[in-house]
Amino acid sequence: MNVSLSESELERYGRQMMLPKWGKRGQKKLKSSEVVVVGTGGLGCPASIYLAAAGFGRLVLIDKERFELSNLNRQILGWQKDVGRSKAEAAAEKLGELNSEIEVKARVIELTENNVHELLQNADVVIDGMDNWRTRFIINKECVENKIPFIHAGIFGLYGQITTIIPGKGPCLRCILPETPKEITRFPVPGATPSLFASLQVMEALKLIVGFGEPLVGRMLLFDGERMSFTTVKMERHSECPLCSHL
Ligand SMILES: [Zn+2]
Repeated sequence: MNVSLSESELERYGRQMMLPKWGKRGQKKLKSSEVVVVGTGGLGCPASIYLAAAGFGRLVLIDKERFELSNLNRQILGWQKDVGRSKAEAAAEKLGELNSEIEVKARVIELTENNVHELLQNADVVIDGMDNWRTRFIINKECVENKIPFIHAGIFGLYGQITTIIPGKGPCLRCILPETPKEITRFPVPGATPSLFASLQVMEALKLIVGFGEPLVGRMLLFDGERMSFTTVKMERHSECPLCSHL
């Protein structure tokens, strides 16, 4: 790997590099990686804070929306002064102040079938910060075609789910959900739920890039915040999946 770590980077990331399987080598891998966060909302804001702080070299934030007051209970890169501003731009600006060693790019655009290839072409990992299934399936298809890991999470109220899709190694989103679920446009959500799942998504991204641990491949982790319980469900690849069965 032809990247090096400066004195300030060694100091900044020192505590995570203390992990035996991490070290300088792991940190250099992070520095050489690009993470694309699709959606700068309840999941995408906290996820991108931890991704930026951890030192992933390039972060791309994709969101075409602007912050509204009703977003501020959970979309924590949107502050009062940002109401009316582009989510991706306001978020990227703050992340640049958190960590100027990394590159943060805001893409004020809606991810569609037409631009998904261009948006994800350099991604080493894609983080699902979406609130709709239609876009998630566009991302899933592109990630399967290009074998890009895709870390899916979804939340509702005090409930949430997360799984890591590594095309060819475990089920893709279409294996898990052969029928696209019905879209729910406005659902209850306190900020603590997406922030928990964003942390888990970043944990998965770190493990994948640094290269240790067991990712949630073929497993869905479910959380019930009312009972404070986590459950893991095994999931298989679908032999007739139209997207990934050939892999
Ligand atoms: Zn599949």
